[in-house]
Amino acid sequence: MTIYPPAGPHDLPQLLADFGRWISDYWQSLPERPVLSRANPGDVLGKLPQHPPELPGGDTLWHDIRADLDSIVVPGLTHWQHPSFYAYFPANISVPAILGDVVSAGLGVQGMLWLTSPACTELETRVLDWLRELLGLPVCFDSRPEVSGVPWGGGVIQGTASEATLSAMVAGRDRVRRERQGAGVAGRAEFVVYASGQSHSSIAKAAMIAGIADGANDDRHIRLIDVDDELAMKSGALGEAMRADLSAGLTPCFVCVNVGTTATTAMDRIDQIAAEVDGLPAGTPRPWVHVDAAHAGAAAVCPEHRGMLRGLERADSFCFNPHKWLLTNFDCDCFFVRDRRPLIEALSVTPSYLRNQASESGAVIDYRDWQIPLGRRFRALKLWFVIRAFGAEGLRAHVRRTIGLASRFEEHVRSDGRFEVVTRRTLNLVCFRLREKGDEVQRRLMDRINQGGSAFLSHAVVPLGEPRRPSFVLRVAVGAPLTRESDIDRLWRTISTHADEVLG
Ligand code: PLP
Repeated sequence: MTIYPPAGPHDLPQLLADFGRWISDYWQSLPERPVLSRANPGDVLGKLPQHPPELPGGDTLWHDIRADLDSIVVPGLTHWQHPSFYAYFPANISVPAILGDVVSAGLGVQGMLWLTSPACTELETRVLDWLRELLGLPVCFDSRPEVSGVPWGGGVIQGTASEATLSAMVAGRDRVRRERQGAGVAGRAEFVVYASGQSHSSIAKAAMIAGIADGANDDRHIRLIDVDDELAMKSGALGEAMRADLSAGLTPCFVCVNVGTTATTAMDRIDQIAAEVDGLPAGTPRPWVHVDAAHAGAAAVCPEHRGMLRGLERADSFCFNPHKWLLTNFDCDCFFVRDRRPLIEALSVTPSYLRNQASESGAVIDYRDWQIPLGRRFRALKLWFVIRAFGAEGLRAHVRRTIGLASRFEEHVRSDGRFEVVTRRTLNLVCFRLREKGDEVQRRLMDRINQGGSAFLSHAVVPLGEPRRPSFVLRVAVGAPLTRESDIDRLWRTISTHADEVLG
């Protein structure tokens, strides 16, 4: 019996062609499929053998696997690449990104240290500098001293925005702790993190993991700041909260600025929030200011959307996810820091087996020190493929096209007096509801649309009205490369028909 059947290197071209065809067929079949999986709990488990095979696959292995993909896996999928997927935020993919991922898998390198694959590190450094330029981010986030004037900036690819937030929070907490110690402040600090009430749950989760908070609802250590009518953080309220905490002996260590909230893509004001942080009493260790632009950041490839980043040069870090809206397969979060030193100090542990001359020379970057895990895939390849394939113009065209589709959808909503658009559309997300109807009616409408299978959209509960109360709103986020105008028009007809039924 051979140990590595039934495929060796010589089989790869044919197998890639076969599976490439299978993927292409899958994409072409999407319009005929219900967007939301119809699987019930346990359906997929019930079709899978209880035990692993004892023997290697035989001659029909790849055929059998494709058959199982068709009969077991695909029916259990919610089709994120479907032209009528409008839920959450998009999870873009593209052929160049897929190829980059395949090459990464084929090379099989692990880039924890510069030494373990110099190309894995240096390609990432260059691609992140390209993205800094493509998004028009301040030069302080560039890795090149000849660009920024200092050798401390730079970007790194993280798996997700959640990991970037956790890394930033830990860096901020340790920087503040060191500054306190340096100033001779006695005793253990009781740290506090700040974000708006509209911030993503990953902020609370990071505070829990970092040991700053005792749970997601620990409002002594996670301060959720009130928002204005546009659901952006009230920066004045942030300043008051930080000063009150300082007076009470607590230690502010981290502020998250949302550029594009999850619920409604509301935009916190970076410049105003940074001004509050910089205005803290003299001698206060400066809390780390992190900008979470997980979804919206991609829009900065278009100069007309860069206003949302005003003041970014005053932030310590910034992250956005090309895996949401920039044609790059999951997972890929780009995390930029103005000063890498506090990040590295917070995350670097060097056992003897990782020591090497290159690292000790100080001439190279070891990205393991910029992230939570040690190991790292060659994710820069997919970004490199994407940027080279689409160019800046192609990326801008994608963002503009999908924002245009969202605008078309918004016009449909506004043209029907039964509906209202509930928040200002900042980019490619439209939040709307049936006018003067309660949350139950809105939910019924959404459930009917989603159960129908021809579209999938999601909801949020946000503070609306006067007096403000948590309100259920429907969300349509347009970002899939396959979505066309005709899909948007069909979506509207579907919503309108279901509204007829719900309103009776
Ligand atoms: N931040 C914001 C504003 C988000 O909308 C999301 C996800 O949608 C996240 C963070 C978390 O992203 P990730 O899944 O990359 O951790």
